[in-house]
Amino acid sequence: MCTGRREGAPRWPQTPAAPSADRGGCVTILSSERESALHTPFKEYDPPETDQVAPVTRSAGPVAVSSGRGKQQVVTAILVVAPLLGVVAAAMGVISPRITILDVILAVAFYAVSGHGLTAGFHRMFTHRSFKAARWVKITLAVAGSLGMEGSVISWVANHRRHHAYTDRKGDPHSPYEYGNGMWNQIRGAMHAHVGWLFQAQPTEEARWAPDLVKDKDLAAISRMFPFLGIASLGLPMLIGWAVTRTWAGALGGLIWGGLIRVFVLHHATFSVNSVCHLWGRRPFTTRVEDRSTNFAPLAVLAMGENWHNLHHSCPTLARHGVDRHQLDSTARLIWILQRAGAVWDVKWPVAEILDRRRNTVAACVPS
Ligand SMILES: [Zn+2]
Ligand SMILES: [Zn+2]
Repeated sequence: MCTGRREGAPRWPQTPAAPSADRGGCVTILSSERESALHTPFKEYDPPETDQVAPVTRSAGPVAVSSGRGKQQVVTAILVVAPLLGVVAAAMGVISPRITILDVILAVAFYAVSGHGLTAGFHRMFTHRSFKAARWVKITLAVAGSLGMEGSVISWVANHRRHHAYTDRKGDPHSPYEYGNGMWNQIRGAMHAHVGWLFQAQPTEEARWAPDLVKDKDLAAISRMFPFLGIASLGLPMLIGWAVTRTWAGALGGLIWGGLIRVFVLHHATFSVNSVCHLWGRRPFTTRVEDRSTNFAPLAVLAMGENWHNLHHSCPTLARHGVDRHQLDSTARLIWILQRAGAVWDVKWPVAEILDRRRNTVAACVPS
């Protein structure tokens, strides 16, 4: 069980029992900061629990920077469409006709690094403060997540905090229920949640939704470097492909498989959490009334545990989303390893008894 800073990582995969003093969150809190940690970050960002939603701007795309709308949409289009072109080119055998072992290694390695940068870094650490980390871990996760080419760390966090604050209500940047119920509206909503919202480029205010990150010099600098990190995300596998094979075919293989196709799959795994994991699947945990988040098991490997999305919406600050038996959550495993190594601490692990209080008594599915 977690009992203090930099020590006591829980045994895996059992969910630790609740400490006697725990007062009803979903977490074991580990230090003198227990009190505030129980409620952050959402105390600061939650709107009132009523239908009276505060006025907000529509969300920005993955490149939610403070530049003009046209420029944002062009950059967003490049980020979304370029990987698709790589997939098409590979499928047609135009550029890289033969996949090699090196291509596969580059694709898997860059997927794991950039993907866990997004899930452990952008999502669980920077958005939800599920754990605290050494500075080198913070910087590594922020850089790794930026290689996922889903926008700068600050804009990503700002959008995601808005999603939690207004889940499936007016103000949610990417709810599949944006256009209401009914088959046609749901199809439109699914497309909006999956990719359409990225092009509705009016920025989420970073100073309002991510003031803690804006003040962090390291994260602000990494956010500004996002365009260069995006180029590096494609250039590095290309460079490695060339360095290993000393051929242009090797370089192109690295670019296509380790770069474009890897980004394409990662993007659509993430996008599916926004769309699929609010449309189809099981709802074993209670959430707000409007919240339609689901657990969708088939995405577990590609989404690195983010697919246990109903649990996540029920207990947003938990470091582990796959809390039940056989629920793969490679992100939680990474956090656990880092905790064992002393690189992260104050990890908010689930508590079995408290989780049980948040379980729906009747198995629920979406749509109901
Ligand atoms: Zn969600
Ligand atoms: Zn979240």
